[in-house]
Amino acid sequence: MPISLNAYRDIAPPGRVELLYRLSRQTAGKRMLHITGNRTGGEIGEILHTLIPLLTEVGLEVRWETMKGAGNFHEAVQTFRNGLQGDDVKVPESLLEGYRDVISQTGRLLDLTADSVITHDPHTLGLIDYAPSDSRWIWRCYLDVSRPQRKTWAFLRPYVIKYDAAVFSLPQFAQPLPVPQFLVYPSIDPLSEKNRELEPEEIAETLDTLHIPRDKPILLQVSRFTRSKDLRGVIEAYRLVKSHFDCRLVLAGSASPDELDEQAVLNDVRDAAEKDEDIHIVPLPPESSIEINALQRAATIVIQKSRREGFGLSVTEAMWKGKPVIGSETGGITLQIMYGQTGYTSNSVEGTAFYTRHLLNNPAIAQEMGARARDRVRQNFLITRHLEDYLSLLIFMGRM
Ligand code: UDP
Repeated sequence: MPISLNAYRDIAPPGRVELLYRLSRQTAGKRMLHITGNRTGGEIGEILHTLIPLLTEVGLEVRWETMKGAGNFHEAVQTFRNGLQGDDVKVPESLLEGYRDVISQTGRLLDLTADSVITHDPHTLGLIDYAPSDSRWIWRCYLDVSRPQRKTWAFLRPYVIKYDAAVFSLPQFAQPLPVPQFLVYPSIDPLSEKNRELEPEEIAETLDTLHIPRDKPILLQVSRFTRSKDLRGVIEAYRLVKSHFDCRLVLAGSASPDELDEQAVLNDVRDAAEKDEDIHIVPLPPESSIEINALQRAATIVIQKSRREGFGLSVTEAMWKGKPVIGSETGGITLQIMYGQTGYTSNSVEGTAFYTRHLLNNPAIAQEMGARARDRVRQNFLITRHLEDYLSLLIFMGRM
């Protein structure tokens, strides 16, 4: 059963739900189509699984479709993602062909009629070539495309400029483009399995199942096992802390068997942990919502030492659970953490360790920061604000 918008009245800032009902009078009955690569996991799935039922509840006719076809499409899209974020990737003609094939298959198969069509990330970008003339097309990009690799951008930009608008997650992620650009921060659902309140027994049981004792303060990073999350750096910071303050480190996240890089990083992290019994490496299957929820609630301090980050929803989730977060200065981490107020930012191992020790030694400060962190999320990064942004965008696009 989808959660009703009314259920957010006591959680969202006062007046927001009322405002949403008022805005929705102008969008009721409009047909909206979201198209994504697939329906599982990650930031996009996390958001749409909540947002679409709410959009439907306020009167829109919403459909969610995914790409049809296989071949080397996954590899092509992975290459584009990396290239858009500035990596020096190889883009052979065969990948471009594979992408065009899936785009044309999907474009011919899907019913693309709607008042507004929102395509998400590079997976679906090319579908603009199949757009019926009477709808508004919006490209929703979650990636940092401020400095894309030239070859990747040369291939993708011609699609982008055919859109009616593009939406980015942070101002600095955007490119100079001849189409209107909008800023929409990602968000979390406070009532989902990943973020809802948990009873102390639920937290205890989940940690028992994961074999993590609660006898010492817990430092936690939730992230996929990829190089960009600097897991070795987190272990080094923990070691600097550990020589002064007894604690545990939990590194939890998915390591997909299909991603060679993630398996390699997982092995590398296991080596780096060197049988330290206070380091817990916890590979999680996708959809481990309760596990992530319980770990974030059990943590004393949450770390996000990414070298590169989109928005960083795991930071938002931890802040919502009243945890101070120590993160690196990249992407949405810098935006979310208010330095010295809700946590700290640092790019070095030493800095991360320094702030961690400071907070472990000053639990009252850590608690105050956690409370401010939760309020920051309440004001800015809840799904209700996201719904408001989408409704406003639709109203605006309808007037263009
Ligand atoms: N997430 C997850 N498993 C992981 C890492 C992240 O389920 O190994 C979840 C995380 O809790 C959040 C979403 O995936 O709800 C997106 O996470 P984030 O933006 O931090 O990182 P990304 O994986 O997109 O780089």
